Amino acid sequence: MRNKFQEYEPEKCWVGETQKISYATREEAEMAAKVAEYDHKISGLSVYKCEYGDHWHLTKEKKAS
Ligand SMILES: [Zn+2]
Repeated sequence: MRNKFQEYEPEKCWVGETQKISYATREEAEMAAKVAEYDHKISGLSVYKCEYGDHWHLTKEKKAS
């Protein structure tokens, strides 16, 4: 059973027109990318430093098709 107060509430940040989850450290963002890849089969996520604040985001690189 999960305690409501212990549940992890991710910080969010508006980047352009989308709200993205922000991570305090690069390690945290990289870990989240690994989890997304493993749990949700989302590949190609990369980590970048936010230009609006002192935190990190994940981005899905779009390949021109
Ligand atoms: Zn941000």
